[in-house]
Amino acid sequence: MQALPARKVRKKGNVTTMYHPDLIRHPDSCPALVLNADFTPLSYYPLSLWPWQTAVKAMFLDRVDVVAHYEREVRSPTARLQLPSVIALKQYVRPSAHPAFTRFNLFLRDRFLCQYCGSPKDLTFDHIVPRAQGGRTTWENVATACSPCNLRKGGRTPREAGMRLMHTAHCPTTWELQEHGRSYPPNYLHETWRDWLYWDIELTP
Ligand SMILES: [Zn+2]
Repeated sequence: MQALPARKVRKKGNVTTMYHPDLIRHPDSCPALVLNADFTPLSYYPLSLWPWQTAVKAMFLDRVDVVAHYEREVRSPTARLQLPSVIALKQYVRPSAHPAFTRFNLFLRDRFLCQYCGSPKDLTFDHIVPRAQGGRTTWENVATACSPCNLRKGGRTPREAGMRLMHTAHCPTTWELQEHGRSYPPNYLHETWRDWLYWDIELTP
């Protein structure tokens, strides 16, 4: 599997880069949770986090409001600054109606489950109508499949192989992917992030 690219959100010439969570693996790096101007996370999955350097730069460019802080400070010879732990964009970023067709988003649409047997292991992609039969690489013709199912299906259509998809392959809405993404909170959540996330599953003290 290839490394996943950082997701980019472009708006009116203003480029806001989303960092893949692998880039912000360590809580020690003090990432800031990025909220939209309506105080909802820009993205749940990957959770919208910026390295502290990016967050501080956005503060100085007056593009964000600081909602909460870390204890940790950075110092220059003349000033000290508490690192922001939650920031909100001043300008609302409207999410695009349809997400990009990427490997990651396709897995997310299918909730990281083989669409033939439901296994979460050893996942690959299946062309529902095989390429050899003219099947294209589109949302409607690609499904998450485990290697054993992929192998069993071979160069056949599901009908020819006597296999059935659990869900019709379709182009998801951004909202749908975000809803799926809410089921996968990251391992680490800073305490100041919790007010802005996961109403439904993060109520334990
Ligand atoms: Zn399978």
